[in-house]
Amino acid sequence: MNKEIFKEHYGLSVSDISTLEGYGSKNYKISGPSFLYVFKWYEDSNERALIEAENELLCFLSEENSFDVPVPIHMKDSKNSMLSFNDEHESFGRLISFLDGEFLKNVEHTEELLFSFGRSLARLNLKLKHFNHPVILARQLDWDIQNFCLNEKYFNDINCPSQKALVEYFYLQYNEVVLPNFHQLRKQLIHCDANTDNVLVDKNKVSGFIDFGDIVYSPLINEVAIACAYVALDKKSPIESIISIIKGYHSVTELQELELDMLYYLIAARLCISVCHSAHFKKLNPDSQYITTSEKSAWELLFKWLAISPIYAAQQFKKSVGLHTVSHTSISRETDRRSAYFCKSLSLTYSQPIMIEKAAFQYMYDSCGNTYLDIYNNIPHVGHSHPTVVKAGQRQMAKLNTNTRYLYPELNNYAERLLSKFPINLNKVFFVNSGSAATDLALRLARVHTKAKDIVVMEHGYHGNTQAAVNVSHYKYNRKGGEGKKNYIHEIPLPKGDYSSHNPVHQTLMQTIDAIDSTVAAFICEPVVGCGGQVPLPKSFLSHVYQQVRKKGGVCISDEVQTGFGRLGDVFWGYELQEVVPDIVILGKPMGNGHPISAVVTTTEIAESFENGMEFFSSFGGNTVSCAIGNAVLDVIENEELQIHAKNIGDYLRENLEKLKKRFTHIGEVRGSGLFLGIEFINGPKNHSPNTQLANHIKNQLKEKFILVGTDGPYDNVIKIKPPMCFSKENADLFIKSLTEILESTG
Ligand code: PMP
Repeated sequence: MNKEIFKEHYGLSVSDISTLEGYGSKNYKISGPSFLYVFKWYEDSNERALIEAENELLCFLSEENSFDVPVPIHMKDSKNSMLSFNDEHESFGRLISFLDGEFLKNVEHTEELLFSFGRSLARLNLKLKHFNHPVILARQLDWDIQNFCLNEKYFNDINCPSQKALVEYFYLQYNEVVLPNFHQLRKQLIHCDANTDNVLVDKNKVSGFIDFGDIVYSPLINEVAIACAYVALDKKSPIESIISIIKGYHSVTELQELELDMLYYLIAARLCISVCHSAHFKKLNPDSQYITTSEKSAWELLFKWLAISPIYAAQQFKKSVGLHTVSHTSISRETDRRSAYFCKSLSLTYSQPIMIEKAAFQYMYDSCGNTYLDIYNNIPHVGHSHPTVVKAGQRQMAKLNTNTRYLYPELNNYAERLLSKFPINLNKVFFVNSGSAATDLALRLARVHTKAKDIVVMEHGYHGNTQAAVNVSHYKYNRKGGEGKKNYIHEIPLPKGDYSSHNPVHQTLMQTIDAIDSTVAAFICEPVVGCGGQVPLPKSFLSHVYQQVRKKGGVCISDEVQTGFGRLGDVFWGYELQEVVPDIVILGKPMGNGHPISAVVTTTEIAESFENGMEFFSSFGGNTVSCAIGNAVLDVIENEELQIHAKNIGDYLRENLEKLKKRFTHIGEVRGSGLFLGIEFINGPKNHSPNTQLANHIKNQLKEKFILVGTDGPYDNVIKIKPPMCFSKENADLFIKSLTEILESTG
């Protein structure tokens, strides 16, 4: 850029030209004895109509004196400020005034300053309301929140699968929550990029705005959302900062309830758009620093955002402007209705029950606005509302949902993929809809195959709620309300400690199985006994039992309802820990991430025995939607490498729990593996008897700290840890910290 141009066209004696950072144009700072301007040079002539419109807008805005904007500088003897270069690209430039002041990015964000930011933004919007230009109205910009969908093409540029899932989650929420209300949001021209680099500050007040290059016609609340998104970056309490902006804005223009209800998702949407652009830009320019500077902060805020309940955020936003939030759901009313319609055996976890309204990944949001860290629910295996799973279900539901009496590739695709996770001889699958139905079917298969009836079960085992499943569940038939052991059931004790032929458990086991005078149909057990209190089986235990059972003609069933799909970290299926191969495997819970799908996997021989002329049909088992969902769950497990993640986080948790055990003598055993752990509570170093009361106290205290766990085991003295597999190291740290505080205060 040479000084002569400015002399010739603008009549200016320029003393210095320096380069400024720019996006979309090349920018130069032009200074002279009594002026300071910015020259913007555009190489793309297609932009010209838009830049002319922007110049008109800046002239219009400069009439307003409550904030400054750059003003176009006209050329000598002309009202025109656009300079054409007449080169092969028909490039052009324009001169605008340089605004003095500090950038909002570089000053401390006091409450007063953020209030002033909101107020100035509202004033800018009030003025913009009276400007219209066909070129601006017609433009479509992917940075505009209403065009979140235009950014879908960048999702695949995000390399980290968990980051990509986060963006997809907020995209899904935008489509679910914002879009249906879109027509009701008031719209007008907005700046659309009031980020902290484009806002000027003077004496703790916002003094002006620059860079009107993104001006669009969009919902007004998007303007607020964009301002909030950038101010919230790197803040300890993002909601507080946002509230200051809202208050300032509202003092000029009242924000509507619906707008404030949408704001949480709009902020997330803008952050997602920003990280999408960073990912795309990085892909195209792997070495450049520009544009990606705020990327780290944006990702951090997005992950933090997930831990803030959208219900809480909306409540706070509305409260800050004096809108009263009315809760439409009353916990006591729902509790009463529940007792009217259901019998007491349908229990609630806490005496003060929690009403859950929404959930995302490892977080559950209650109707009061609290966020709970979910360390208990293993059914949403890959995370609550995981977008890959939700989308798979939505798409398939909209296309076809039919049953196995027809041919459809989804069934075979899923069966093939699921069976590929098993050894070669486990090559037949049956789809049903619950762990219980799978247990029931597994028992039928075993009995048809062996023509025997007797079943060997494990002490404290649980396999489901159907009659047949209860009959093989010591945890049910042997406890309150149970009918006791049927005569065809043979129990083996739950082994603890080392397993060897000298161990009394081994002796009892041999004797139990030897003493069965009929042939055995099956042996059923979990590889880590969940209801027994997360008890892992000693090394080589299963290989001994399997041998014995097979000698008696029986088949061996592994119940992987809780332990399957990589949760144990070291292995994909729990039986692999014992280096055995079962004859029948039962799958459930995590398989559909909450969608009711389960399966029985077995050998050709056993499946053939079942081909006795009677049709096997399950109305819902293996339906098209279930298969699509099951497939999506496997996609997420593989893409997000959740098995290794479970191993790493599980090992980290165990290590820290072992440290706690050394400090607190009420912790008996820490056991399990991966993200399937148990913490046993006992009465003290000299009295190892179960401390049910303490376990219960800790469970309830953790709830007070917004952490969900459960208790189990024959004495209910074991805290169970089995969170959604996206559970993070930060989550583990929070859990350990909270547990430590509770144990310290318990004395
Ligand atoms: N087996 C085991 C080991 C289980 O934990 C459960 C459920 N808790 C079942 C079977 C029964 O599964 P469902 O509740 O899906 O019928």
